[in-house]
Amino acid sequence: MLKGKTALITGSTSGIGLGLALAMAQNGANVMLNGFGDVEAARAEVAKFGGNVAYHGADMRKPDEIESMVRACEAQFGAVDILVNNAGIQHVANVEDFPVDRWDAIIAINLSSAFHATRLALPGMKSRNWGRVLNIASVHGLVASAQKSAYVAAKHGLIGFTKTAALECATTGVTHNAICPGWVLTPLVQKQVDARAASAGVTQEEAKRQLLAEKQPSLQFTTPEQLGALAIFLCSAAADNIRGVAWNVDGGWVAQ
Ligand code: NAD
Repeated sequence: MLKGKTALITGSTSGIGLGLALAMAQNGANVMLNGFGDVEAARAEVAKFGGNVAYHGADMRKPDEIESMVRACEAQFGAVDILVNNAGIQHVANVEDFPVDRWDAIIAINLSSAFHATRLALPGMKSRNWGRVLNIASVHGLVASAQKSAYVAAKHGLIGFTKTAALECATTGVTHNAICPGWVLTPLVQKQVDARAASAGVTQEEAKRQLLAEKQPSLQFTTPEQLGALAIFLCSAAADNIRGVAWNVDGGWVAQ
């Protein structure tokens, strides 16, 4: 379905980003990976589908590196047709204890990088009158949890940004939408499972059960594969008129 299209996915060396990269490659897209994880393992996994795979190591805190990533993708594949703003980090602390450098990093990576990559990829998308920008927000773009002030602020901001960009492109073939996962068992969440297991003195399985029971009524983690399938749908012609939505995949988290 995406043969001839190119997908640039930030933060795609692990977790959700890697899942989205695999879905894009499986559907025939060229893929540019980014992130600080195991690059060669990610590249090999995505290459299994036989398409073209590239990597750029831009740091999402740095606008000039984001620019060189977008330009490298255009130079290598001729376009950025699908931009997935996925890179993200987390830090958990009360507001008065929140380290200032963590606040700044979360806003830069989880919010501002999406602005930079979008503003740089948009002229090409508009000139071809086709594009998909998928912003990986979170249920924390829709509701809050204590001790996640920077993350919640960034993700609420990302959804606001998605809506504004969608309106600006409403009469074009470029759509902007946000995907809002609940708990997905990735390295980002594994750190929170480890912290809970250590502080409550419980097993990994019990820590996962507790984490889900607090927020996610299905008591099941959302998977990167499920998010990949939604991303592919949002790239399809059936989604041509889906613009500015924040689509939660959260086992009922925000229905409560
Ligand atoms: P992850 O830690 O597995 O992946 C994060 C990716 O971002 C990695 O590839 C990492 O190397 C990359 N990254 C981190 N800092 C970077 C930087 N400065 N520059 C470039 N890349 C950088 O985490 P994940 O859970 O897969 O998270 C992916 C996205 O999904 C994030 O935006 C996160 O907020 C969001 N999300 C995750 C969950 C969840 O439950 N795991 C839920 C909702 C939303």
